[in-house]
Amino acid sequence: MNLFNVYPLYDITPVKAQGSKLWDKNGVEYLDLYGGHAVISIGHSHPHYVQKLTEQLSNLGFYSNSVNIPIQQELATKLGELSGYDDYELFLCNSGAEANENALKLASFFNGRKKVIAFSKAFHGRTAGAVAVTDNKAIIAPINYDEHVTFLPFNDVEALKENITEEVCAVIVEGIQGVGGINVCSDEFLKTAREMCDKTGAILILDSVQCGYGRSGKFFSHDFSGIRPDIMTTAKGMGNGFPIGGVLISPKFKAKFGMLGTTFGGNHLACAAAVAVLDVMKEENLMENAIKKGEYLFENLKQIEGIKELRGRGLMIGIEFEKPVDTIRDTLLFEHKIFCGYAGKNTLRLLPSLALGQAECDRFLEALAQTVKA
Ligand code: PLP
Repeated sequence: MNLFNVYPLYDITPVKAQGSKLWDKNGVEYLDLYGGHAVISIGHSHPHYVQKLTEQLSNLGFYSNSVNIPIQQELATKLGELSGYDDYELFLCNSGAEANENALKLASFFNGRKKVIAFSKAFHGRTAGAVAVTDNKAIIAPINYDEHVTFLPFNDVEALKENITEEVCAVIVEGIQGVGGINVCSDEFLKTAREMCDKTGAILILDSVQCGYGRSGKFFSHDFSGIRPDIMTTAKGMGNGFPIGGVLISPKFKAKFGMLGTTFGGNHLACAAAVAVLDVMKEENLMENAIKKGEYLFENLKQIEGIKELRGRGLMIGIEFEKPVDTIRDTLLFEHKIFCGYAGKNTLRLLPSLALGQAECDRFLEALAQTVKA
């Protein structure tokens, strides 16, 4: 059997990874500034992470959501402490799309409504519900799941005020749009969204799957605005490569047996990975590192000619050029051995490990300056 061929692949086979570096089967070293779409939060193969996962391996067969799994509560407690949302509750699942699906479900259970407000260029995942609130018609399934969704221009305070009514179930927004181009939600927009949701009884969902987990320099990127959402969704960096997703649910929601469910969500290995991530983030002050290295990159990127706009926060950085970035990206990868991503045709997207080092920043800045000049 062959794999269903939906991903264009580079002819590179990584066999080893450490920190922000990868090595392919020929021993060539690469700098990883993309981390598999923001997944690598604490760095590849961190010893604490490897140890935690290894310790849990023998527990796999005991897994079921109908028995007590202490590491789930350890995860919830540590997540509450580090994020500052210790009064919220945690539902564990397996991916970002699944987290958003459950968030939308919870919102509709809460207020019995169906209409959802989402935003231009939003990306929330590839399940039917998550696709419905994603502004990319190329991935919409033929079934019309989106009949209840209204897309508004991103960051448009007036449009939000005009469209939010007492019929709206939820407003779902990324604090910083990832796939949509590293667009940062303004404080004014987030505060208005909080206010209008309170006024109309709509649920405010912050999709923090890509921009959360310390990437912006705060635990959640919306923390810069001081608002507290009703629901936050996470995945990606939560497990540093191990699949796990989570829904953080405010105290206004009351859990009922059978309300949500999952077979694999909260399994031992996923929880061990997520606990290790939180331990390392705390121990190594990775959010502070994300702010420092982000500021350093932003300052120095400003000196490079040909960049149209820099967007983002911390270590979630969009570098927009006047022209498509495919050649720049290929040169960085094939000549300078640096992995970067893209968001839209003209924007390079950096989502490195939050433990990115100074020398690694300099290696990228030098390589980019050379590439752009050539
Ligand atoms: N939400 C956001 C903001 C994302 O960037 C993504 C994935 O890129 C998702 C949700 C979906 O996550 P997953 O691919 O884990 O389902």
